[in-house]
Amino acid sequence: MTVTGDTSFWHPFADMSAVRSSELVIERGEDVWVWDAHGKRYLDATASLWYANVGHGRPEIAAAVAEQLGRLEAYSAFGDFASRPALELASTLADLAPMPARVFFTTGGGESVDTAAKLACRYWSALGEPDRTLLISRTAGYHGTNGFGTALGGIPANREGFGPQVETVQVPHDSLEALEDAIAQAGPERVAAVFAEPVIGAGGVYPPLPGYLEGLAALCERTGALFVADSVICGFGRLGSWFGVERFGLKPDMITFAKGVTSGYLPLGGVVVSDRVAEPFWNGPDAPILRHGATYAGHAACCAAGLANIALLENEGLLRRGQEQEEALHGALKPLEGSEAVAEVRGGVGTMAAVEFSESAFEQRPDAVGRVVMAAREHGVLVRGLGRGVAVSPPLSAGPEHFALIHDAMAEGLSSL
Ligand code: PLP
Repeated sequence: MTVTGDTSFWHPFADMSAVRSSELVIERGEDVWVWDAHGKRYLDATASLWYANVGHGRPEIAAAVAEQLGRLEAYSAFGDFASRPALELASTLADLAPMPARVFFTTGGGESVDTAAKLACRYWSALGEPDRTLLISRTAGYHGTNGFGTALGGIPANREGFGPQVETVQVPHDSLEALEDAIAQAGPERVAAVFAEPVIGAGGVYPPLPGYLEGLAALCERTGALFVADSVICGFGRLGSWFGVERFGLKPDMITFAKGVTSGYLPLGGVVVSDRVAEPFWNGPDAPILRHGATYAGHAACCAAGLANIALLENEGLLRRGQEQEEALHGALKPLEGSEAVAEVRGGVGTMAAVEFSESAFEQRPDAVGRVVMAAREHGVLVRGLGRGVAVSPPLSAGPEHFALIHDAMAEGLSSL
C-alpha cells in the first residue's frame, strides 16, 4: 500500500517527518476508482482534492489534450496573443455565467482568488476610490495559499507564522448581522470586496443558512462592496450547476473557479468577471491596463482539457447529478450520527458532506481524524481528514452503491476509536 524510503518530494499540507518514509503512491484511475502502486483498489470518495468531477481516466479528455499538444502545446496570452482553445473556453464560460461577463484565466484556485482580490482593489482605484482596499471573508472559509488567499482564509492554523499579511476582516460564516456590522465598522467606503464560498468546503462543509447568500449579495449591493463568489470547489457540477451560485439566484461581481473546470486533467483556473468590473478596463482610450497575469494563463492544452471536460459534464448529465444526488449522499451518511463519536453529519447541498467528530471522540483519541482516515483507507475508501472530522466529495458519476461503501468504511473507522 505505502512505499517506504526517504523521499525528495515535499508534499503540501503534510507532516513530512512521517510522510518522508511513508507515501501512498496512486498509479492509475478509472471513473470513481484509483489503484495504488501495489495494485490495491480504492473508492475515491473525495474526487482527489475536490476536483475529479467527471471521474478518472476519461479517454475523451486525454484525446483532446493530445490533439492540442500535437498542434500547439501553448503560447503566451500576454498582450494580443491568443490560442483557439483559450478563446473558445473563455467564450463558453462567459455564455454559461449567470451574469454578463469576461473571463480571466489563471493556473489554479489560489491564483484565481489573488486575481479577484487584486482586481477588486484595482477596480476601485480606477474609479477614483483607492481607499477601498479592505477585503472581508468568513470564518472556516478556505481561499488557497497565495498571498491574498492566505490572508482571507478563515482557518486560523493556515495563517499562522507567515508574517505580515494583507488587511482583511473575518466574520462568522453564518451571520449576516456580523457582516453588516463589519462593513459599518470599517466604513463602506473602505471595503473593496466580500469573499464567500457558496458551500464552505475545506473548512468543514458548511452549507449556507437559508437566505444567507442572498442576504450577503444584497448587503454588498447596498454598500457598494464587490461580491466575489469563490466557486473553486462548488463549480462545474459539485452543486449541480456551472458556477454553484445559480441555485441561490446570485449574480456575483466575480466568480473564482478552478478544479472541476478540467476535472483536474490539467491545471487551470480563472475568474469570471462581471461587465461591471471589467468595464473600466475594457472601454475607452484611457482605460488602465491590468498589470497582472501568469505565464500559463490561457494555456492551450489546459483550455482544451476544459472544453472536453465541459462537454462530458453536459452530455452525460453529470452537471445536474451534483444536485440530484445530494440527498442520497447526505442520507447515506446521516446514520453515522448514531455513533457517540459523531457530533454531526453535514451536507445536503451538492455532492459533498462532512462527518464531524464529537468532543468525546477527541477526548478518547486526540488523533481521531487520522485514525478514521487510515481505517477507511484500509477498508478501500479514500476520505479526507479535516480539523474536526472527515469530508467526502466523490466524482459526480458516483451513486448510492458508492455512498453505501463510504458509509461502511466510515462506520468501520469510527469503530476503531
Ligand atoms: N478556493 C477554494 C474555495 C478552494 O477550495 C481552494 C482549494 O481547495 C482554493 C481556493 C485554492 O485552489 P488551489 O489549491 O488550486 O490553489
